Amino acid sequence: MSRFSSEIKIIPKAAWAVAIISYACLAVPMLAVFGFQEDMGPLGRYLVSFGIPLLFLIYILLAGYIYADARRRGMRAVVWTLLAFLIPNAIGFILYFIMREPLMHTCPGCGKPARAQFAFCTYCGTSLAPACPKCRQAVETEWPHCPHCGGSLKAAPVA
Ligand SMILES: [Zn+2]
Ligand SMILES: [Zn+2]
Repeated sequence: MSRFSSEIKIIPKAAWAVAIISYACLAVPMLAVFGFQEDMGPLGRYLVSFGIPLLFLIYILLAGYIYADARRRGMRAVVWTLLAFLIPNAIGFILYFIMREPLMHTCPGCGKPARAQFAFCTYCGTSLAPACPKCRQAVETEWPHCPHCGGSLKAAPVA
């Protein structure tokens, strides 16, 4: 659960504000319309009056999460937030979670963010991951050959 709560913390305050205001703006009229419908029964009345605005609140918070998450991953935050929000039936949200890039690393040399797949820091040139000795692209230590140039990695890759 600690991972979940730390993820919740990245949702921008503005998204919380918009979500809560929208919730109030929806729940009050919903309650005024459905709260006194005798034929719906008490459970049905409250489920509709508070449940539908709650779905909307979650939707806005998710959009806020995607904005903050895309930013820290070096993705186009505004584009992804709009896509997620506008593609119907939450398909945009699902698409985002399938296609999002890995979390950024922090460069040990200068502290600036660096993409996970980078072998060197784009700001100061510090080595971030094992690199192919021939083409200098990022490789993994267990690969015998480089996926970019085909060169042998057996001669210990530059760390
Ligand atoms: Zn750096
Ligand atoms: Zn290579």
